[in-house]
Amino acid sequence: MPAAETDQSLLQKAGLRVTRPRLAVLAAVRQHPHADTESIIEAVRADLGEVSHQAVYDVLRALHTAGLIRRIQPSGTYARYEARVGDNHHHVVCRSCGVIADVDCAIGEAPCLTASNDHGFRIDEAEVIYWGLCPDCSKAP
Ligand SMILES: [Zn+2]
Ligand SMILES: [Zn+2]
Ligand SMILES: [Zn+2]
Repeated sequence: MPAAETDQSLLQKAGLRVTRPRLAVLAAVRQHPHADTESIIEAVRADLGEVSHQAVYDVLRALHTAGLIRRIQPSGTYARYEARVGDNHHHVVCRSCGVIADVDCAIGEAPCLTASNDHGFRIDEAEVIYWGLCPDCSKAP
């Protein structure tokens, strides 16, 4: 099945009207995991021609609200988007160059950590980000 059909049915199941910008943004996020908004705008423009920043922002927001894409924002970096949703995976971020990679969650469902004291909250998420140096940066002098 071509990816466009899959994305169309994803949009429909999420109750979103299928539009070319929505398909293009979803495809761009899928093709460029952890891309920031600027990179997604570039990819969408390569696909659709001229599209306003605002249009792409609006589509990203709609897709995120519908749960079709995930937004991550490690502290000190721009928001990034990915189409890998629903598996509660985590991320490892390079402190030096900012590259991001996926790390499977050992448990797979949120919250993967049990708080030692939950203060009476019903906790539904633990945000885990691993920080370090990527292989390239750890080789650099
Ligand atoms: Zn690095
Ligand atoms: Zn990821
Ligand atoms: Zn986990």
